[in-house]
Amino acid sequence: MDLKAYIRNIPDFPQKGVIFRDITPLIKNPEAFKFAIDLIVEELRAYDFDLIVCPEARGFIVGAPIAYLLGKGFVPVRKPGKLPYQTVSDFYELEYGRAELHMHVDAVEPGQRVVIVDDVLATGGTALAIKKLVEKVGGVVVASAFLIELTYLNPRELFKDVPIIAPIKF
Ligand code: AMP
Repeated sequence: MDLKAYIRNIPDFPQKGVIFRDITPLIKNPEAFKFAIDLIVEELRAYDFDLIVCPEARGFIVGAPIAYLLGKGFVPVRKPGKLPYQTVSDFYELEYGRAELHMHVDAVEPGQRVVIVDDVLATGGTALAIKKLVEKVGGVVVASAFLIELTYLNPRELFKDVPIIAPIKF
């Protein structure tokens, strides 16, 4: 299946110079959504891990079905002011702007093995920030998975030393 055909490319959103990769056509198509999730699930079977850790909001759409299918726990990473309990946090640079991410301080136990999942790997800043949060509480990031990798932004230069699964590449 040509998954790229289900991604809508929107130039200059949310700001000039950015081509936004819109996954909504993919996730509204039952065959394409299932195909993409199943591809990631099959690749992740090679890794021994406990938890899927995902940033809001589109990351949840990709990460939750993967966690469910592989029988893993799910940990949400959220913007400031959303999580009710004590958190660890980190600032990071986005392709468009600066942001702060939080995770519950007890979400990952020391020594637990984690896979980071999001919709798009762009500069790698978000994935790196999540890796730092996981490591702050003693977890280990063993792999990462995305629907889309934007190879022209060279995310692997910033987000190093972690295997990356991404069925769609631009
Ligand atoms: P980055 O931290 O630069 O790797 O950006 C990844 C995060 O920002 C992901 O959560 C994406 O949802 C979002 N994002 C960044 N760039 C794009 C893009 N061109 N199209 C769609 N989402 C993007």
